[in-house]
Amino acid sequence: MEKPLIVITGASSGFGAAMAKQFNEEGYALLLLGRRVEKIEALPLNFDRVMVRAVDVTDKATFGAAITEAEAVYGPVDLLVNNAGVMLLGNVLHQDPQEWQTMLGTNVMGVLNGMQLVLPDMVARKSGTVINISSLAGKKTFVNHAAYVASKFGVHGLSETIREEVSGNNVRVTIVAPGAAETDLLTHVTDDGALKDYEAWKQTMGGLSLDPKHVAEAVGFIYHMPQDVNVREIDIAATRQD
Ligand code: NDP
Repeated sequence: MEKPLIVITGASSGFGAAMAKQFNEEGYALLLLGRRVEKIEALPLNFDRVMVRAVDVTDKATFGAAITEAEAVYGPVDLLVNNAGVMLLGNVLHQDPQEWQTMLGTNVMGVLNGMQLVLPDMVARKSGTVINISSLAGKKTFVNHAAYVASKFGVHGLSETIREEVSGNNVRVTIVAPGAAETDLLTHVTDDGALKDYEAWKQTMGGLSLDPKHVAEAVGFIYHMPQDVNVREIDIAATRQD
């Protein structure tokens, strides 16, 4: 039997690209979403059962249209990984509020959009999994991360709330909270001082490098548990991270 459909948001780089590679090798049908589709199309994948669509997760209509299109070809979504996210470091004393809006819009509203798009059908089918990529910044604070921390504490709160709402229907909602990793995440930071502080913080621990493939493996571990077993949260970080 052909393996079911997995949707990954933010598949164009970092953790999302690593998950796409892993689930592609395992033979799942994939709907890979991001704004930079050319980056997704350049990933080293077998594209036989892969659909790539340009989706901004803050735009629920486009997000939903892509899911509908993929389900028509591959059947119902069995796993949604809400991975798309942005981290714009900055001190609230002078940070542009538009950057707060971008983080809260993508990291919180984007996740809610994804969940509302797939959960009604999963609840009706009494099967399905949503894995939300949060952060250790969803559990503890970091200087120059105020709005990001707010967004990721939000992901933890909404995930656990919704887990309680759907668990009676055998649907799993899970959080993966990674530590610092080398991805494209920092490339969007506009505050050079905050960026320097971040690099200095990493050096206090001898430099940190969590390979995205290990985050993908954690996601796979959760997903491959039987449907009636929910690994509710995995925190995964470089061993040296404080
Ligand atoms: P990347 O910047 O490499 O990846 C982020 C992905 O999100 C990109 O594929 C990007 O695609 C996508 N994205 C951003 N905004 C949107 C949007 N509005 N709509 C659709 N896609 C969007 O960073 P990571 O891989 O590190 O980040 C993945 C997740 O992991 C994020 O949620 C992040 O907060 C979290 N995380 C990262 C950590 C790290 O240190 N790297 C640590 C802890 C958590 P595109 O630009 O093509 O749209």
